[in-house]
Amino acid sequence: MLTSYRLDEPALDFGDDGVPRSSAFDDVYFDKDAGLDETRYVFLDHNQLPDRFENLRTRNFTIAETGFGTGLNFLCALELFLKKAPKEGWLHFISVEKYPISKEKLTQSLALWPSLASLAKALITHYPTRCHGFHRIELPEFRTTLTLWFGDAHDGFKALDARVDAWFLDGFAPSKNPEMWSDLLFQHIQRLSNRDTTFATFTAAGIVRRGLQAHGFAVTKVKGFGHKREMMVGQYACNGLNEDHQGSWSTIRSNQSVDRIIIIGSGLAGATTAYTLAQKGVQVTVWEQGEVIACGASGNEQGMLYPKLGATDTPVNRLYLSSYLYAHRFYSQLSSNYDSKPLWTACGLKQIAKNDSEKSKFNKVLESELYPDSVIQAQSESLHLPLSGWVRPKAVVEALLSHPNITVHLNRKLEAIETSPQGFEVFSGKKSYQCSHLVICTANQHHLLNPWLRLPTKAIRGQVSQLDIQTLSKSDQSLVQELTQVLCGDGYVSPALDNQLNFGATYDLHDTSLEIINESHQVNLDKLSALLPLDTSKIQTSQLRGRAALRCTVSDYTPIVGPVSETKTLLEQFATLRTNAKWQSKQAAQLVDGLYINIGHGSRGLVSAPLCASYLSSLILKEPCPIEISATEALHPNRFTIRQLKKGEA
Ligand code: SAM
Repeated sequence: MLTSYRLDEPALDFGDDGVPRSSAFDDVYFDKDAGLDETRYVFLDHNQLPDRFENLRTRNFTIAETGFGTGLNFLCALELFLKKAPKEGWLHFISVEKYPISKEKLTQSLALWPSLASLAKALITHYPTRCHGFHRIELPEFRTTLTLWFGDAHDGFKALDARVDAWFLDGFAPSKNPEMWSDLLFQHIQRLSNRDTTFATFTAAGIVRRGLQAHGFAVTKVKGFGHKREMMVGQYACNGLNEDHQGSWSTIRSNQSVDRIIIIGSGLAGATTAYTLAQKGVQVTVWEQGEVIACGASGNEQGMLYPKLGATDTPVNRLYLSSYLYAHRFYSQLSSNYDSKPLWTACGLKQIAKNDSEKSKFNKVLESELYPDSVIQAQSESLHLPLSGWVRPKAVVEALLSHPNITVHLNRKLEAIETSPQGFEVFSGKKSYQCSHLVICTANQHHLLNPWLRLPTKAIRGQVSQLDIQTLSKSDQSLVQELTQVLCGDGYVSPALDNQLNFGATYDLHDTSLEIINESHQVNLDKLSALLPLDTSKIQTSQLRGRAALRCTVSDYTPIVGPVSETKTLLEQFATLRTNAKWQSKQAAQLVDGLYINIGHGSRGLVSAPLCASYLSSLILKEPCPIEISATEALHPNRFTIRQLKKGEA
């Protein structure tokens, strides 16, 4: 368990020549004179990347690196990929960095390489907040995905699910940084490699040679760059040693190859999943049973980016944190590609304690110093989340589904699913359709999955209210206009949008009606008056407009995202857990190949949906996973059956 997600800024100086140098490690990030040529010689040429990119036969090519530093190696690899690889190819670059440099220093370092300026600009724009964990950066304009782990190399590779084609073993020299070049690092390199995996490294140190040889690599010394005597290259040469690392019940990868993908549901979960796949050049079909898209909870005019962040480090807390940071980037990127009104505004959010117990919870969060100030700050007895803001969910869904690779069919209700030689035959009306992949993003309506599994979700009604601010008194209008950030307490209110004040929401446990109810408006008005000192007694509920929808919440308050297994098979495969909860199966859980689910985002879909979509797409397209292995377990649809088995209840 971590005690802090904060990371130290590296002790870094720029010499007179402008080259960044680490005073802690007494080593340079790169050599000014050699710079690009050295990277090309050591890492690109000695992993045979010019040839391998040119002759790329698979969709994805994955490079992993130790020590991201200034991103120079990344940019050089990207430049070569764009020059050599076929248009269908996609570069995945994974790198770990324990001491991420600031955006300012990144900008200063990369200014030395004018030939890389346009690529560097994209990296600088999307460079993540210095916070522990995985940060996925999508650069579709360059057919590239960058996955950065901010934290120690060992922890990052331990948390990673990927298959690496080429390793860039960079990082400060083993003599100056022996902790990184440990046996543990080589164990992870082995687990993430396969038969064709190569490596190249600037060093010829014995500790690195022996470590790689002991973990299945054939190692050769070759002439180093320029005046340097030697460096090392090699290839993974073992068969069978590389065990599948996935948790036995929580397997996530299937062999199903992509042919036709159908996504059921056009809410935020379905739209983000469709968009993430479409961005990668894949054609996707979305079915919506309603007459319009986003007709459920995702159809609200305005919502907020409000993560659930606690005072202790758990897999779910980390998942919410990285989902939150990803969502911030996702909406910003989407908004910048969209020429109409902004889809979101990063105005910040103030979380006000609704009672004493929440006040003490907030104090614990602040005292824990778990989060960097860029994520959570104290603000007059409240929490301030500077990266939050409000989103226009309906407009976001519309923007996502307008991607040219997405076809949406309205009034098309999924009525039955059958397995077929291609994958699935899905039925609607009198027609049936074939697909290789079926992704169920239908919130509470997942009963068609019952032949395979049953899921513990509950529908909770939420009504939001909307008030035309021109109907308020002049003094109340000024109060509303002064609201510059989202306020959250028992309810929430966002800064006015198009002269409307959106606030809410009710939380009705035993009511599934979608009618707009005046009592619900009154509940929302009471919540509003606790947040803003408006004279709500003068507001008639009949003046308000509203929208009611059903949230899909899960018994453990974590979304259900991942591949589907048949419960009956799972119970048979893992029966021993009934008598021995610690039993480890050697066999991975059998999956219903091509069947996926993405539901249960509750009230936090704006936070969790984008990263969950990225995760699901990475499984379907066989890409490196953007979330930690522990998070894939926390989201896994199999978790309920396994918990029951362990308790002897299944
Ligand atoms: N590849 C980089 C580039 O293209 O700019 C240069 C890498 S620099 C020589 C070495 C990097 O390794 C530094 O940024 C350093 O902070 C990082 N590093 C050192 N020890 C580490 C560890 N244990 N885990 C992760 N990163 C580490």
